[in-house]
Amino acid sequence: MAVTRKPVVEVRRSQRRRRTVSAYRDGERVVVLIPDQFSRAEESEWVDRMLARLAAREGRLARSDAELLARAARLIDLYLTEYGSAAAPASVRWVTNQNGRWGSCTPADRTIRISHRVQDMPDWVIDYVLLHELAHLIVPSHNADFWALVARYPRSERARGYLEGVAATAAIP
Ligand SMILES: [Zn+2]
Repeated sequence: MAVTRKPVVEVRRSQRRRRTVSAYRDGERVVVLIPDQFSRAEESEWVDRMLARLAAREGRLARSDAELLARAARLIDLYLTEYGSAAAPASVRWVTNQNGRWGSCTPADRTIRISHRVQDMPDWVIDYVLLHELAHLIVPSHNADFWALVARYPRSERARGYLEGVAATAAIP
């Protein structure tokens, strides 16, 4: 199974461009327009950045915050049902400013944030990342009680393996 989907990228250099970089999808390809004077290092840095931006933009359309909240309600129903409102978040949002983690949770105000990098992953992996954060609303630390809650989700182990594989290939710190 492929864990990363890298589109074919076509870089076009333009002498008229000074600083601006833009990117758009053209069928299966992504065209990235950069200034002609960019170095190779700048080029590859900007290609990565524009691909992430494009994925975030497209992912946001497909998987909204509202959908994430509905997903949370379903997961609570299935796996944390006896906790009821104790497991219910005040808000669940997709965020793009979270680079070292897949998700985070603030038990004090009951907010959950999920990284946009999870948006393109299979549903069962998104469910794991979300359930992990929901379980933190009940047990804040990674202790045995916490992992027992997470283990109620049948694909926890597999999802953790999937995420480790993605982190390894993307060299996420
Ligand atoms: Zn955790």
